[in-house]
Amino acid sequence: MRMKNRMMRSNVIAARTLSVLQRTAAKFFFVLPEAFVPLWQKNRYSKKHIYALFGRNKSRRFPFVLVLFLALSSCADFTTGNPPDSAIVSLDSAAIIPQPVLLEKRQGSFKLSEETQLTYSEDLFNEGNYLATLIDSAVTFKIKKIKNQQVSESEIELKLVNDFPEELQHGEAYRLIIAPDKLQITALTQTGIMRGIQTVRQLFIPAFHSDEKRAEWYLPCLKIEDKPAFEHRGLMLDVCRHFFEKEVVFKYIDALAFYKMNVLHFHLTDDQGWRIAIDKYPLLNKISSFRTEKDGSIYGGSYTKDELKEIVAYAAERHIVVIPEIELPGHAQAVLAAYPQFSCSGGPIEVVNDWGVFKEIYCAGNDSTFTFIEDILTEVMEIFPSEYIHIGGDEAPKFRWEHCEKCQQRIADERLTDEHGLQSYFIQRIEKFLNANGRKLIGWDEILEGGLSENASVQSWRGMDGGLTAAQQNHYAVMSPTSHCYLDYGLEAIDLKKIYSFNPIPENLAVELHKYILGGECNMWTEHVPDEATLDSKVFPRMIALAEVLWSGPDTGRYEDFYQRLQKHYPILDHFKIKYGIETLPLKIETNVADHAPYIILTKNQPDLELKYRWACADCDTNLTVYKNRLSFSQTGVLEVYAFKNTKPYGDVIKQELRAHLALFAAVSYTNPPHEWYPASGAFALTDGKLGSYNFRDGNWQGFWGRDVDVILDLGDERYISKITMNFLEYINAWILNPASFTVSVSDDQVTWKELGDLLVVPVSAEEKEGITVNPFILQFEEINTRYVRVQAENAGKLPAAHEAAGQDSWLFIDEIIVE
Ligand SMILES: [Zn+2]
Repeated sequence: MRMKNRMMRSNVIAARTLSVLQRTAAKFFFVLPEAFVPLWQKNRYSKKHIYALFGRNKSRRFPFVLVLFLALSSCADFTTGNPPDSAIVSLDSAAIIPQPVLLEKRQGSFKLSEETQLTYSEDLFNEGNYLATLIDSAVTFKIKKIKNQQVSESEIELKLVNDFPEELQHGEAYRLIIAPDKLQITALTQTGIMRGIQTVRQLFIPAFHSDEKRAEWYLPCLKIEDKPAFEHRGLMLDVCRHFFEKEVVFKYIDALAFYKMNVLHFHLTDDQGWRIAIDKYPLLNKISSFRTEKDGSIYGGSYTKDELKEIVAYAAERHIVVIPEIELPGHAQAVLAAYPQFSCSGGPIEVVNDWGVFKEIYCAGNDSTFTFIEDILTEVMEIFPSEYIHIGGDEAPKFRWEHCEKCQQRIADERLTDEHGLQSYFIQRIEKFLNANGRKLIGWDEILEGGLSENASVQSWRGMDGGLTAAQQNHYAVMSPTSHCYLDYGLEAIDLKKIYSFNPIPENLAVELHKYILGGECNMWTEHVPDEATLDSKVFPRMIALAEVLWSGPDTGRYEDFYQRLQKHYPILDHFKIKYGIETLPLKIETNVADHAPYIILTKNQPDLELKYRWACADCDTNLTVYKNRLSFSQTGVLEVYAFKNTKPYGDVIKQELRAHLALFAAVSYTNPPHEWYPASGAFALTDGKLGSYNFRDGNWQGFWGRDVDVILDLGDERYISKITMNFLEYINAWILNPASFTVSVSDDQVTWKELGDLLVVPVSAEEKEGITVNPFILQFEEINTRYVRVQAENAGKLPAAHEAAGQDSWLFIDEIIVE
């Protein structure tokens, strides 16, 4: 997951296309047996415990005055009452996300007023209180709560039933009926009731526009029946690379509840920090929780046990399960900094202050390592009642194990094939421990390597294959491929529409095995997410798209409708103090040529945007100008483009460096085509005048994997040239290296070539940004008159021994061959 070969991962997946299966949500729903015992039934909070929760500080439980709304009570006759328009909630203005399975409009409306009573049984104490708090936030009175059914002319009722029809036989299913005299939510379980309450919250989105409380609200009569398509609907939050206080976690749990997600996958341990208090090993919090940054500052923090229990309880109130992730055997360097005796090398080891994958992992040959981990897991299980414990299992370099006597002895003693077998041994041993304690193991798809342990479930991230393989072996899988579910990726790789196109069911999975695909998660790794605002902007609105896909099923042509509904949610996100980002990159900047005249054209990615630009070149008008038509591209300069939606800025300014030169739109022929994942704009990518940025996915860079660049530029006719500049991008963590060497040859006929031997390479000091460098290689030579220019740049070959992926082919990334 992580940085390192992030490019690889996205590639691996980008290559795959997902077909939309013709499976309906309902079908899937009923195929699922009890095997993955639904999370909501596994809530280990007794009723007593839940009651106890209510003794807590209320402001913490409902930090964002969510909600308002609702309320209903006797169906009002609008012909006589004349309530103010603003008190009437129109169904047309409602925008429910995820889309309910069935929504039926009915005649009439329901009036919520001081006369309304809220009734629920003791079994629904938690849910009743939750709803009462929401209603109270929207009205000028306190709603009357009645524990036992009494006759009333205006009633809001929460009720558990056991006579749902077959199509609603699901623990999260609910039915909401709004009639003139009653608003009723029924469900088989408390979880279903809570999901129904969230729908009621969403029905009254208009009320979110104002914090004004009212004495009366009028709600339209309707009937909704609803249930999820997938059992597991989650967000993975990495609090290791950057740490987020518990208040942020509460905010996210509220948002998950609002969108009917049911899992917070809490990534609590990694190389860069340990975030969970463990009594038995206090150095974990003294040493492993802090790192010394490159500038010498100390960064870190961790949650106390009380804080974690609060988080678990807060989630449980909303029927969300928190699954803790304790990484092993890799991503453990922070632990080993405090307890080096459980490493192979014995240390000294430091908490990592960089991003990537690191070679210090737990020693698998040392029995005390397992005792140590089991002690930790025992305390973890005391805090987290989840059915599943996530053990990571990903990205564990085997270098230390290969050179460790104890690990090699273990391989021999256990008759394991190799280090992959040792990883499998490691995971299986931990799984036995978890199973003995009544828990199930889930890990990233690397746990498939060397053989999957007996009851393990797999979280598929390197594409869909991990989930496919697991399901084919009758193991459960959660899908979060880098192609669709990585929220740390930029919008150029994964935008709202891309996430919405996600289908968690692998294309080639036999229908009878679909039941093993539990659902999906979006993964929020936080290497480049230093603060809450950045976190918000990456998670929202994209997570909302996944929430709908997982609840309502994969897209079957709903996207436009979803997009329109989403627009109505932004005021709510504002209300929740969520600093959401944008949905997609606002525009494309392209260049082209017509009648020998190059031009620049801007294309909006959404029709509801307005574009303004500033074109800074020698003779350009540098005022901010509304974009209407293509711009002339005859000079070198920088184009800045600003997008606006409803007159508000939409995303950051987009800057594109443009270079006019002799080979602009020269035809390019390739000996080796670029890799299919990185074609950039295609045939003219190297001569389109657009220079690549520090983002290797910006659409300007062409990538060659394990191959040389060998291209011929046709200048159209003979030109005098004396300088060639080639830009290469270097990003070692992503396997992208500079060329090993290059040559330039010229020809008038493409038959006789003359290599330019006396190249003056102009030294350029390129600036590095977070491990990425854009290197211009400037070659000067004596002026020559020629038509064809051949550029050959030699791929650097296999990744060197020091690299985490040593021995793999490296990438060569080039953009623009500038001829002057
Ligand atoms: Zn070892």
